[in-house]
Amino acid sequence: MTDRSVPVHAPLTQFPVHGGELVVGGIPLTQLAARVGQTPFYAYDRAQLRQRVADLRAALPASVKLHYAMKANPMPAVVGLMAGLVDGIDVASAGELKVALDADADPQEISFAGPGKRDVELRQAVAAGVLVNLESMREVGLLAGISNALGLAARVAVRVNPDFELKGSGMKMGGGPKQFGVDVEQMPELMAAIGRAGLAFEGFHLFAGSQNLRPESICEAQQKSYALAVRLAEATPLPVKFLNLGGGFGIPYFPGEQRIDLQPIGDNLAALAERAKTDLPQASFVIELGRYLVGEAGVYVARVLDRKISRGQVFLVTDGGLHHHLSASGNFGQVIRKNYPVAIGNRMGALDASEMESASVVGPLCTPLDLLGDRMVLPTAQEGDLVVVFQSGAYGASASPQGFLGHPACVEVLV
Ligand SMILES: *Cc1c(COP(=O)(O)O)cnc(C)c1O
Repeated sequence: MTDRSVPVHAPLTQFPVHGGELVVGGIPLTQLAARVGQTPFYAYDRAQLRQRVADLRAALPASVKLHYAMKANPMPAVVGLMAGLVDGIDVASAGELKVALDADADPQEISFAGPGKRDVELRQAVAAGVLVNLESMREVGLLAGISNALGLAARVAVRVNPDFELKGSGMKMGGGPKQFGVDVEQMPELMAAIGRAGLAFEGFHLFAGSQNLRPESICEAQQKSYALAVRLAEATPLPVKFLNLGGGFGIPYFPGEQRIDLQPIGDNLAALAERAKTDLPQASFVIELGRYLVGEAGVYVARVLDRKISRGQVFLVTDGGLHHHLSASGNFGQVIRKNYPVAIGNRMGALDASEMESASVVGPLCTPLDLLGDRMVLPTAQEGDLVVVFQSGAYGASASPQGFLGHPACVEVLV
């Protein structure tokens, strides 16, 4: 077997190593753990968040607006930092809306998407002056009533469930029968209702799916979304002011996966923006990203409580697990469980084979699902060592069942 035939994790060069320790936010890991005061914790690296936005800006046309979909990481300090870096925040509930407003995001540049928006949430959105991405006829009726009651015209865009899918997506959220958005076929009726209700129509929102690592599929979805929007723009009550083309950019989690090349996506958007000058002269493009902006900037850190050997297999039992990090355990939408990149954060030096072993990293929960690393080759670890799970900045703490089994909550820090 050649080296190439064994899939490996993409290199995680975003975190430096110093004196055998991983450095996060400029602080060696054991010192950071002392500063945090407990394990497990999540740490998000400010400098990396800034760098990621700068890299995206450099790759995408300047006219494209970059939004942060905060459900990927709703920690208030992270949202506060991101609000100052991106052009807008996408929220998916009134709870997220509050965090975005508190973070000083401009209401003009906040959009609110999601199926099943409650009456009170729509009221809060209209009162705040944010854009509502409509997902059903019911919302048109509710917003008409709210607009009248508050004396404020609701700002709306229509989330379209397209007649195509984002190929190669980890999670498909558009195309076919979906609870998201309004089917293309129902658009004439919906547009007429928006016009009758006097809502302030501003544009379209198309979100085809998440965690896509194939630039060609992303470009194809953007082209199809664009063509669909141009077609739909013929029958809108007001001119299209913006077109939210979604995002779905993925990050490498598993062996064999590579970082996406932004260049073709940037070129594609530039070409579409050129066409839009004639097709949709008043419209600007929006790209909304969650995972891609924050996912690589975060680590999850747990401490080894016990080193057990069962019938020859090493188990590192840690104080962290699926209750804090459901996605790393493989139980957040993955079909086949694969290992996230994992390291022993205080044993990062160059080691020879005799200092390495195959070990499984597990949590303290009474379920075999509580697995953070399945038979991985790691430096031989002892009780007290710090296990690091990389690529943990998105869909981590807030996407995990912290109440399950009554263990202590994790802490999150932005460093
Ligand atoms: C979840 C979601 C996003 C963010 O998806 P990522 O894969 O994290 O970039 C963006 N837009 C909408 C509408 C979403 O539901």
